[in-house]
Amino acid sequence: MNLKDYIASIPDFPEKGIIFRDISPLMADGDAYREATKRIAEYAKEKEVDMVVGPEARGFIVGCPVAYELGIGFAPARKKGKLPRETVEVSYGLEYGADVLALHKDAIKPGQKVLICDDLLATGGTIAATIELVESLGGIVVGAAFLIELEALKGRNKIEGYDILALMEY
Ligand code: 5GP
Repeated sequence: MNLKDYIASIPDFPEKGIIFRDISPLMADGDAYREATKRIAEYAKEKEVDMVVGPEARGFIVGCPVAYELGIGFAPARKKGKLPRETVEVSYGLEYGADVLALHKDAIKPGQKVLICDDLLATGGTIAATIELVESLGGIVVGAAFLIELEALKGRNKIEGYDILALMEY
């Protein structure tokens, strides 16, 4: 199965000059969604992951079914002000804009092996911030898995030394 058949490319969204890679056709197709989930879960199995963490909002779409498949838990990294209990926070730059990401303080126990999932790696700002949150709680980031990597933006350079899986590259 070629997963790229299930990605829609939208020019000039959300701003002029940006080609947005839309994963909703992949999510809408049961076989494609399951295939993507299985490939990430296979990658994670070798790493003996304890928890999956995904940043709001499409990190939930990718990370939750992977956690379910592995039979382990999922912790959401959310925009500031969304999580109801005590959090750790980090501010980060996006491909377009800036934001603050937060994680519940008890989301990860020290020493737990964590897989971070998101839909897309662009500049690497989101994943770097998520790694910082996990590590500030004593978690060990054993991998980062994405549906898509935008190679030209060199997000990998921002998280050098971490193991990365990208199912598709543009
Ligand atoms: P980064 O922080 O690596 O620059 O940007 C990645 C984050 O922005 C991801 O959380 C992703 O959801 C979102 N993002 C940026 N560009 C795109 C895109 O073209 N398509 C999708 N689906 N998400 C994007």
